[in-house]
Amino acid sequence: MHSAFDVAVVGAGIFGLATAAELAERGKRVAIVDRFGSGHPATSSTGRSRGIRIAYDHPFYVTLAMDAIRRWRALEDASGEQILHLTGQVDFGLDSKLAAIAAAVREAGGVIDELDAAGLSRKLPHLLSAPEDKGLFHAQAGTVLSDTGMAALKAKVLAQDVALFEPERVVAIEPGDPTLVVTEKRRIHAETVVIAAGPWSGALLDQLGIVVPLAPSIAQVTFIAAPELVDQPGIGEWGGDGEGLGGVYGHPVPGIGYKIAFSTGQKGWSPDVAEWQADPQEQARLFAWLDRRMPEFPRQVRLTQRHPWTMTPDGDFIVDRAGPIVLACGCSGHAFKFGPALGPLVADGKQAHPLLARDRTSLTGRTVAADDAITR
Ligand SMILES: Cc1cc2nc3c(=O)[nH]c(=O)nc-3n(C[C@H](O)[C@H](O)[C@H](O)COP(=O)(O)OP(=O)(O)OC[C@H]3O[C@@H](n4cnc5c(N)ncnc54)[C@H](O)[C@@H]3O)c2cc1C
Repeated sequence: MHSAFDVAVVGAGIFGLATAAELAERGKRVAIVDRFGSGHPATSSTGRSRGIRIAYDHPFYVTLAMDAIRRWRALEDASGEQILHLTGQVDFGLDSKLAAIAAAVREAGGVIDELDAAGLSRKLPHLLSAPEDKGLFHAQAGTVLSDTGMAALKAKVLAQDVALFEPERVVAIEPGDPTLVVTEKRRIHAETVVIAAGPWSGALLDQLGIVVPLAPSIAQVTFIAAPELVDQPGIGEWGGDGEGLGGVYGHPVPGIGYKIAFSTGQKGWSPDVAEWQADPQEQARLFAWLDRRMPEFPRQVRLTQRHPWTMTPDGDFIVDRAGPIVLACGCSGHAFKFGPALGPLVADGKQAHPLLARDRTSLTGRTVAADDAITR
């Protein structure tokens, strides 16, 4: 079967769907092919919730997050579904990181308050803090109900007459004019091909001679039954607790519980290995952290979810172009919140920002340890 489109998007995760929605809005004929189908546990954009915050240490991400909140709200209006639950966020941990976050948020025009130890305790009564501890609080943060957000974005894409082929695997891409995308079932011609294949992006790009350092790893999140915490702020711990574990983050999820997890991937993961059963050791590690930092926090587990993410060495995404191929990958464990705001970044079909360049010096010649912590 042959068909022709302006753009073929490989992957219907958050990057792919957001890109397709934006391209269709710009009048392009778009096809998306997804190997597993959205919602499959092997994909990164699957799960009940994702944290959202504007607390970043670079104004680029702060501005993008503010844009994302506006766009998620527009998607709520269009779909009639609640997607955001914003209760604010308290950040704590490394002083240097907190200072960088406060500076970047203010530079981008956002509001963030500094907290001393007493302020930290007021905002997060469960957290054990020392008199010298400091923190930050900002209101533009909380939870994206990610399954609902994905469904709303997918409905938008389908209403725009985007051709969605799932489950269907892209097996080969032959760059040219037009470029040929070969799937298990069809051959698609397109002027531009967007690689938004999450953990599989590295392998697809390798086949095209485009080498970028990507390291997929597994991450596990735990939802604790805690209806009394549903309006409490999310948390973001930067730099871990001095034991090399990476930080912990969390947020309240209406109807489920308080989600809490480490900001490190657990271990390297080959994307083609089906390995997404909950790991009791990871949960024990999380409870050990709670014993040290939040001993009064509730402990009844409602749900555990385990999915992959894909780190770059510097924690920034890759959104760039190589001939007819557009790269939209390297989520580094923090892309979901940007949701519909990722669409315009990728749809422009060029390097989105020097931070996201595929040949930036912080990528060249570097590899990434799969269990590196999220640093952005
Ligand atoms: C447990 C966990 C917690 C997270 N928490 C947060 C958070 O709190 N806040 C936040 O902002 N982000 C968070 N993230 C990160 C966020 O979810 C990811 O950055 C984002 O979902 C990445 O989306 P993606 O579109 O790049 O990848 P994916 O969602 O994996 O999409 C890629 C798609 O490509 C398809 N595909 C692959 N190969 C092929 C092929 N050959 N042919 C066709 N299709 C193909 C796959 O089927 C898949 O659907 C978390 C991630 C995990 C796993």
